[in-house]
Amino acid sequence: MSHPREWMSVRPEGLYCSPGDFHVDPVRAVARAVITHGHSDHARPGHGEVIATAETLAIMDVRYGSGFCARRTPLDYGGVMDIGHAKLSLAPAGHILGSAQAVIAHDGGRIVVSGDYKRRPDPTARAFEAVACDVFVTEATFALPVFRQPSVDAELVKLLTSLELFKDRCHLVGVYSLGKCQRVMMELRRLGYAKPFFVHGALVKMCELYEDLGYRLGEIVPVASVDKASLAGEIVLAPPSALSDRWSRNLPNVLTVMASGWMQIRARARQRMVELPLVISDHADWDELIATLKDVGAPEVWITHGREDALTYIAEKLGYRARALSLLGFEEEDGE
Ligand SMILES: [Zn+2]
Ligand SMILES: [Zn+2]
Repeated sequence: MSHPREWMSVRPEGLYCSPGDFHVDPVRAVARAVITHGHSDHARPGHGEVIATAETLAIMDVRYGSGFCARRTPLDYGGVMDIGHAKLSLAPAGHILGSAQAVIAHDGGRIVVSGDYKRRPDPTARAFEAVACDVFVTEATFALPVFRQPSVDAELVKLLTSLELFKDRCHLVGVYSLGKCQRVMMELRRLGYAKPFFVHGALVKMCELYEDLGYRLGEIVPVASVDKASLAGEIVLAPPSALSDRWSRNLPNVLTVMASGWMQIRARARQRMVELPLVISDHADWDELIATLKDVGAPEVWITHGREDALTYIAEKLGYRARALSLLGFEEEDGE
């Protein structure tokens, strides 16, 4: 048997598997890439072959156009593919639609590159599956003990209550265009919200893709197609960058809301002038990260993008061999 340490390495382009001659989520164009999910810091255009779930390939197509790579190779969750001398399979990661952990086996050793993940239920993502392995590669976006997320229902009830209390105010909700937007919509439908969602133009295409793939978001109306004065008392969704720019200025009596894991940090909410911060995250919080290390049970843990130090410290205390991978090019703000 050979240990993944011997055949997985950090290159400038990203994590590289030598027996399979491919990179996972490379930050530069490469000949063959395995992509864990569609967020822009993981899924970049310009690769030769891209191996990913069909959903991730469809997301990249919407974001970058049909020429985003030279060759697309879809792989279903649970399917196994031989790539060179490595075997690849994809396991659900629970992060967003199509998100997957790359399970890579070679010569009796196995590594799981989990990409981004969370453990809470999400109507738009298949639930995370723990896969036994020798090395587990984990994100560390919210890897500090202060990050403990409340329930999604408790957060969304705050929004529904505010709509009841402030009937004349347009509730402008900042959401990342891929994942958070559609998750918030589906969770609000589950809680009984039946009115249309009014959306910024930048959200339309991705919502259409979710609809095409069978996710029922309900009635969606582009803000550009209605009289803005009629939006008092309604929910308007927009990317976070639009909350404070000219686009939102003509909306009536705006109450600014934002749904993000970062809303747990008050200074961030204030910075964005958010009146109603909703702590809704698509990443594992501190407790979920630690629970996941235990569920997976890998003796060795590699830690990347985020608060590597805190998670490395606690992993070693819990008896794992831990190593911080200094992978560059991963932004903390996309789609958390
Ligand atoms: Zn992500
Ligand atoms: Zn990420």
